[in-house]
Amino acid sequence: MTDNSFVENEERRALRKSVAAQVANYGQEYYLQKARAGQHTDELWNEAGKLGFIGINIPEEYGGGGAGMYELSLVMEEMSAAGCGLLMMVVSPAINGTIIARYGTDEQKQRWLPGIADGSITMAFAITEPDAGSNSHNITTTARRDGSDWILNGRKIYISGVDQAKAVLVVGRTEHAKTGKLRPALFIVPTDTPGFEYTPIEMELVSPERQFSLFIDDVRLPSDALVGSEDAAIAQLFAGLNPERIMGAASAVGTGRFALNKAVDYVKTRKVWFTPIGAHQGLSHPLAQNYIEIELAKLMMQKAATLYDCGDDAGAAEAANMAKYAAGEASVRAVDQAVQSLGGNGLTKEYGIAAAVTLSRLSRIAPVSREMVLNFVAQTSLGLPRSY
Ligand SMILES: Cc1cc2nc3c(=O)[nH]c(=O)nc-3n(C[C@H](O)[C@H](O)[C@H](O)COP(=O)(O)OP(=O)(O)OC[C@H]3O[C@@H](n4cnc5c(N)ncnc54)[C@H](O)[C@@H]3O)c2cc1C
Repeated sequence: MTDNSFVENEERRALRKSVAAQVANYGQEYYLQKARAGQHTDELWNEAGKLGFIGINIPEEYGGGGAGMYELSLVMEEMSAAGCGLLMMVVSPAINGTIIARYGTDEQKQRWLPGIADGSITMAFAITEPDAGSNSHNITTTARRDGSDWILNGRKIYISGVDQAKAVLVVGRTEHAKTGKLRPALFIVPTDTPGFEYTPIEMELVSPERQFSLFIDDVRLPSDALVGSEDAAIAQLFAGLNPERIMGAASAVGTGRFALNKAVDYVKTRKVWFTPIGAHQGLSHPLAQNYIEIELAKLMMQKAATLYDCGDDAGAAEAANMAKYAAGEASVRAVDQAVQSLGGNGLTKEYGIAAAVTLSRLSRIAPVSREMVLNFVAQTSLGLPRSY
């Protein structure tokens, strides 16, 4: 067969089908019910782990599927399209799994990757700080040496899933790399380490995965808590952040598909004049636009994942940013149009669209905001000067 990167091969189509079949047993009802009860989606997570979906990108020698970001993003998209996309997929296998697989020591890989792969270990990721915000170069979480140990101090905000996590990969900097351009130092911090505390942030998201503030006070870590080099080039961090953006895009594409499917089903049968409301171009055209925008975003997501899996980190960075942007925009517009298409039902609990509003809105903010993506493209792709 000729190589046709624009067409998903049979294996990937089969994977989509298997994931879709698994998550259909859960769906949005399960997801929202868990979220509203303040519970986690352990059944879905554990089963997805056993079926090999969570660790599909982790190397085979560490218990994973040996595939790539393409396959992992496809798992994320299908979960989200069923209304039960799990944020920890973005964090645990995509960011942490990738960084540890690429930069970890053999011991770190043995310790963490098999659990991340089968879902028995969830690992959170913490870069965002209250003062630095989008300006990661300003993070102040700092590690100093004490003998062979590290002593870590700092504060983080909006960190997802810490209560579910065995450990958090914390992005800090070392004392001697304290100012100037970020040379990140990445530490694995088990959540039960003395001095490591976290408190939940009350969000209006209807999500079973919660966000937390972290307080890291004189946390003592063994020397092997450090992943990779202690003042590595930023490349070490971006080995995980490009997958994060690809997964952010996958989540948004899936959420867009979820909303569009609901809207299309509804307008096909709802009649208030002599024809289903879906015949009115005031509804059918925006829905057609949503479909086009989602498909375009998905194509860029597939390109980004393909470049990443080929080892082209620079090419993947541009594509991952553009995919994340396009998917966020497509998702927000599709969910908004779905609300409109359902009229009053669009805002009820029963139809499940209203809960997707804040979720889709998240895709414009995290993991990197729409404006920071536009800054990246303006400066890196177009060569325009910076304003900041
Ligand atoms: C539900 C949720 C889950 C999250 N999970 C995690 C997680 O697990 N781990 C983690 O580390 N972080 C996580 N985050 C944090 C997320 O990555 C940040 O919220 C995001 O990067 C934006 O940072 P900020 O909130 O500090 O906004 P700010 O940086 O304060 O930005 C506010 C606004 O200003 C704009 N802005 C800032 N600078 C510029 C500029 N130079 N040019 C133009 N506009 C600009 C931004 O685009 C944004 O619109 C999560 C956030 C949410 C909401």
